[in-house]
Amino acid sequence: MFEFNETELAIGEALRQYCNREIEPLVPRLETGEVSPFEVMSRLSETFGLEEMIGAPLRKKAEARRTGSKGGDGKQDGPGPFGDLGLGVVFAKELARVSPGLCLCVTANMGCGSTIAAKGNADLIERLAIPVLSLKRPGCWGLTESGSGSDAFAMRTSFRIEGDEVVVNGSKAFISNAPAAEVFLIYARLEDRSPGADSRDKQRIFPVVVERSNTGVETGPAMEKMGMHVSPTGEIFLDDVRVPRSHLLGDPQRPAREVAEETLGLERAVIVAMCLGVIERCLDDAVTYAMDRVQFGKPLAAFQLIQQKLARMCMAHENVRNLVFKLMWMQEKGTATEREVSCAKWYATEAACEVALDAVQLMGGAGYSREHAPERMFRDMKLWTIGGGTSEIQQLTIAKDLLRSRDFMIDLAGGYSDKRGR
Ligand SMILES: Cc1cc2nc3c(=O)[nH]c(=O)nc-3n(C[C@H](O)[C@H](O)[C@H](O)COP(=O)(O)OP(=O)(O)OC[C@H]3O[C@@H](n4cnc5c(N)ncnc54)[C@H](O)[C@@H]3O)c2cc1C
Repeated sequence: MFEFNETELAIGEALRQYCNREIEPLVPRLETGEVSPFEVMSRLSETFGLEEMIGAPLRKKAEARRTGSKGGDGKQDGPGPFGDLGLGVVFAKELARVSPGLCLCVTANMGCGSTIAAKGNADLIERLAIPVLSLKRPGCWGLTESGSGSDAFAMRTSFRIEGDEVVVNGSKAFISNAPAAEVFLIYARLEDRSPGADSRDKQRIFPVVVERSNTGVETGPAMEKMGMHVSPTGEIFLDDVRVPRSHLLGDPQRPAREVAEETLGLERAVIVAMCLGVIERCLDDAVTYAMDRVQFGKPLAAFQLIQQKLARMCMAHENVRNLVFKLMWMQEKGTATEREVSCAKWYATEAACEVALDAVQLMGGAGYSREHAPERMFRDMKLWTIGGGTSEIQQLTIAKDLLRSRDFMIDLAGGYSDKRGR
């Protein structure tokens, strides 16, 4: 249970070598935008045969969906290119070791492609999910809006159905990959103009697939931000965008809120794997530095305050590694609960930031310089205490689940109901 299987280990090793040899030297130019992350992803895809690895099972799934036979179910697959969570975790961990920003570009593709693969028809799977999941075309998924972040389901972007078409209007903010994306998975609310309609009704939110080539789609420039410089983040504007009815994903019987939560659940599991990669990298760099750097006539590693830092980083590594394997095990058994995923996301993201900062401190002035990875890793990983649900929202989710088991119901807006009537 606490080890990758043979295939995952072999791919992980090959990927480690590839990342060290091909990607690490590009990081400074990826950071400044001189090299496009999407070109790097496309080369990665070719080297690892992702089109075949992902395309083969998905083409079977598309065929099953076309003929209505077994295997065409709408169940959410593993996170992205790799069909199962194990390989998704290996890719996230190894990419994050060299560039969390590049890894974010990959996970944005996963969030888009895995939902299309799970819910789309045969044409959407073949034409869009396969190229997005095999990292050949940039994709993104948009839930957040300028007015609704943590309160994501208060979104205003809406759609209506007109004959065989779906017409989408609205805008999204802070969307990873948006400035470059060709395929957009947009969460939107089915319009309801009837008197007394509930504008916050979560049951009416669905994912809709939109393409850059559709009239009325525009994106803003990449925003300037603290870290994750490799990953372009931006706004999406949708003005009467018409797409075929088949681009509306999801089952009216099954609230799309659950689809979004499934995607978020998978995203959070992959985020924990990214944290593991970052912690592993910072720990490796810190140990090497502590052994090489001499002060007061001794290597830093001989000082007990330095040893204490290394020990704390090592403890975080152990804990996050255990969480990764537990999440993979629960995913396989289908028993992962929101509470456990939130505990893991909250803990791992805060731990990754602390470890990166400890590594900066341990390396002194060198740690503060851009020559070493921990400074960048800290700026990059700070995103994950915010994106994919902030640390505060994870805590509220955990408390909500904990209290629900004692019949005390709370919501994220501060409401509560106590079955004992108080
Ligand atoms: C670089 C980047 C990439 C992103 N990529 C994507 C993407 O690809 N797709 C996508 O859909 N979104 C994406 N996001 C959006 C991200 O998920 C949101 O920023 C996040 O959910 C927080 O929303 P907000 O920024 O509106 O903060 P707010 O919701 O305004 O929160 C502000 C602060 O208030 C706290 N807060 C809010 N409500 C409560 C409460 N009830 N109790 C206590 N504290 C509370 C929050 O924890 C936070 O500290 C991205 C964001 C960034 C920065």
